[in-house]
Amino acid sequence: MGTIDVHTHFVPSAWPDLSTQVGPGLWPTLRVDSERDAMIMLGETEFRRIGDDCWDASVRLADMDADGVEMQVVSPTPLFFSYDKSGDEAVKVARIFNDLALEICAPAPERLIPFAQVPLQDPDAACAEADRALASGHAGVEIGNHVGDRDLDDEGMVMFLQHCADNDIPVFVHPWDMPGSPRLDRWMARWLTGMPAETHLSIIAMILGGVFDRVPPTLRLAFAHGGGSFAFWLGRFENAWLQRPDLIGVSERPPSAYLDRFSVDSVVFDPVALRALVETLGTSQVMVGSDYPYPLGERPVGSVVDRADFLDEAQKRAIRRDNALRFLGR
Ligand SMILES: [Zn+2]
Repeated sequence: MGTIDVHTHFVPSAWPDLSTQVGPGLWPTLRVDSERDAMIMLGETEFRRIGDDCWDASVRLADMDADGVEMQVVSPTPLFFSYDKSGDEAVKVARIFNDLALEICAPAPERLIPFAQVPLQDPDAACAEADRALASGHAGVEIGNHVGDRDLDDEGMVMFLQHCADNDIPVFVHPWDMPGSPRLDRWMARWLTGMPAETHLSIIAMILGGVFDRVPPTLRLAFAHGGGSFAFWLGRFENAWLQRPDLIGVSERPPSAYLDRFSVDSVVFDPVALRALVETLGTSQVMVGSDYPYPLGERPVGSVVDRADFLDEAQKRAIRRDNALRFLGR
């Protein structure tokens, strides 16, 4: 009865040439440097070096065994979402990568649990691809936290979330496409400050956009990276909702009333931060996630939970496993 890791990524070891299979434009390609190493390329630019833990089930399973992980949710790497392309193109990309995800997970169907990407810029197509993916073996979807300037309270996004609620599809929200500026191009600042801010904004959009008022509580929704900056700044948000209702008080209830409507993962590294999540959101709303196999992820997976001496064994079991089973509908 090991840990369930709800936040991991894959990249296939090969995929079709998207410029001929999908359409002209700048698409990611893979430069294979050896059997174990490759470079994701965007045009002539090196985007990210990756290893065989991205695509080789046996490597993943060995790492899982080492860390006491029984199951991984295996999600797309956000670079491949293709939300900036046309809906038709993004459908084709989603089908290609969703089918490749099934191949990667096939050697261990009880342990590698694939989540699909969807063409979120076209909500009808996103619903259709989610249905196709679930029918073909995926267990849920991972979505980016925004599409261009449209946040999670956009009508199309709400329609998609409603579809997931109606069809029992768990949704994992991952930050991506962080704003850039010269100030943010240093020190991985877009990952270190941009990603937590993106997720924070998404949760605020769900609350203030009235999405939680409209979409039923059956929606199973989780946010990456501990929900970003949200839990730490809930007090500021709550105070603003009460003090400036003329500007922000548009949800039916104050922000703190919606905390049982979503979960977050545990990849915050510091037990002090994990404690803030547990005390703010509740033990039932936190699940182990690691961001495996990327370097900003946590290894051994779930070690922040191991080090959390404020949690009793029942709470640790809930965070390591039971909450994830509920999220996955198992
Ligand atoms: Zn991630």
